[in-house]
Amino acid sequence: MRLLLVEDDPMIGDGLEIALKQSGYILDWVQDGESALDCLKTETYQIIILDVGLPKYSGWEILKQLRSWKIQTPVLMLTAKDELEDRLKGLDGGADDYMIKPFFLEELEARLRLLLRRHQNRTENLLTVGGISLNPQSFEVTQNQVPIPLSAKEFALLRSLMESPSTILSKAQLESRLYGWNEEICSNAIEVHIHQLRKKIGKEKIKTIRGIGYQIQQKDAC
Ligand code: CA
Repeated sequence: MRLLLVEDDPMIGDGLEIALKQSGYILDWVQDGESALDCLKTETYQIIILDVGLPKYSGWEILKQLRSWKIQTPVLMLTAKDELEDRLKGLDGGADDYMIKPFFLEELEARLRLLLRRHQNRTENLLTVGGISLNPQSFEVTQNQVPIPLSAKEFALLRSLMESPSTILSKAQLESRLYGWNEEICSNAIEVHIHQLRKKIGKEKIKTIRGIGYQIQQKDAC
């Protein structure tokens, strides 16, 4: 799960970076509008947290630009002002949600989960595919009610696959969702994690589509 945070206040940015990384998000944090647009040109994000008042380009300008590029990633706007005008501008401009500073971290994380759910057309946080259940909030994974202990990367990998069960995810897409800017990636890292995950949940649960990528199996194989 890769998230772009655009926030020029170092206090808020630092706090969010620590908390969201602890919650298992891969986070790219930039502090001005130009860097945000550069990131959006080169990387695919599952969610964007966008401050309104920023150097170079405002949050509104970034939002307008990314929607004009047909990037439909959910956007949570952060605004310092609780003015009605600002809220309306955000929602009219294609933002999915907004929060007024100061806010509680727990609420922000709950809203992120809600935005992701809405974007993926799900009604609950719990992901269930082919006998496997994954709770993105408590990090619990069970298979036929039996708890399955996973490493952080295995969890992130399984979550990515389970969030889009009808999609084949390429190795590059999985790398983007599992690794941050400063993390070294071995060329076979995804294969290694897939191998470990298959040992825990069953080889048949993750299908390899040669030359394309990986897909979770939705049917509970006999
Ligand atoms: Ca700001």
